[in-house]
Amino acid sequence: MAAIKTIGILTSGGDAPGMNAAIRSVTRSAIFSGFKVKGIYRGYRGLIDDDIVDFKTQNVSNIIQQGGTILKTARCKEFTTEEGRQRAFEVIKKHGIDALVVIGGDGSLTGARQFASEFDFPIIGLPGTIDNDLYGTDHTIGYDTALNTIMWCVDRIRDTATSHERLFFIEVMGRNAGFLALNGAIASGAEAAIIPEISTEVDQLAELIQNGFRKSKNSSIVLVAESPVTGGAMGLAERVRKEYPDYDVRVTILGHLQRGGSPTAQDRILASRMGAAAVDALLEGQRNVMIGDDDEQIVYVPFSKAIKNEKPIDRELLNTLRRLSI
Ligand code: ADP
Repeated sequence: MAAIKTIGILTSGGDAPGMNAAIRSVTRSAIFSGFKVKGIYRGYRGLIDDDIVDFKTQNVSNIIQQGGTILKTARCKEFTTEEGRQRAFEVIKKHGIDALVVIGGDGSLTGARQFASEFDFPIIGLPGTIDNDLYGTDHTIGYDTALNTIMWCVDRIRDTATSHERLFFIEVMGRNAGFLALNGAIASGAEAAIIPEISTEVDQLAELIQNGFRKSKNSSIVLVAESPVTGGAMGLAERVRKEYPDYDVRVTILGHLQRGGSPTAQDRILASRMGAAAVDALLEGQRNVMIGDDDEQIVYVPFSKAIKNEKPIDRELLNTLRRLSI
């Protein structure tokens, strides 16, 4: 393998708070170790459109506290085609980029894996998604901030919910994973979480009603993971109106609120550690791995594992939630 001199960085797919901290960390760690750095704008789109600039340490000054991504992000259909990736490879060669660090979620790392194997090109992935749905890492960059935002929102909804006798369904993101809903419910003292991981096992709505929820309370808050499997908050509210018309149900969809905001300390630290680890990985000759954290330790997770395996939820958390919602 030819020596790596120049590292390109991009952020792709859904943005997540802490991506900037990761960009800063990769840039500065790389420069510290003698590499040149290039910033690629709008994810894979920037590779195809040749939207690439030299990054110095000053390019990443004063960004650790900012949400979003200074490199912008995009969804790029062209990169899913062979011609698109061929064009991206030509642009990479033109800029003398020898390795890539891709910060993104499941889709972005799937693209990275495909590109890396097609062109025998070294890529290190960083898990950047609020959904926490990548296998092989306890936490993804952005998850903790989104969880805190959800908690902040639910606290406020509870104030109004307790003034009326209502059932509130609050829909949170997660892209087919229940991490935000389940942990958000525990953190905000919600009565239940309806998550896709167990939707196929039990009718969570029927269970909720049968358990006599809110008999002793004057309001109930249920966090619902957005997903066709759960039916989403709207779908569930519709069911309540039809099947349990005694209940006064309201829906709040938190939506893009959950993506914004200044990253928490935990996300900034995680992103900083993972960014440095991405450069270490390249120095060690690693390629086509995602940086993960496993019990506070940095680990290298092959792309194939990170994207192909479903990360299980901790069933103990469900029991905890059940016990606390009596
Ligand atoms: P996320 O990374 O947040 O999961 P997406 O699923 O939208 O976001 O993926 C981001 C981008 O990754 C896509 O727009 C596309 O450019 C690229 N990508 C996703 N899947 C593939 C694939 N199978 N092959 C090549 N590129 C892909």
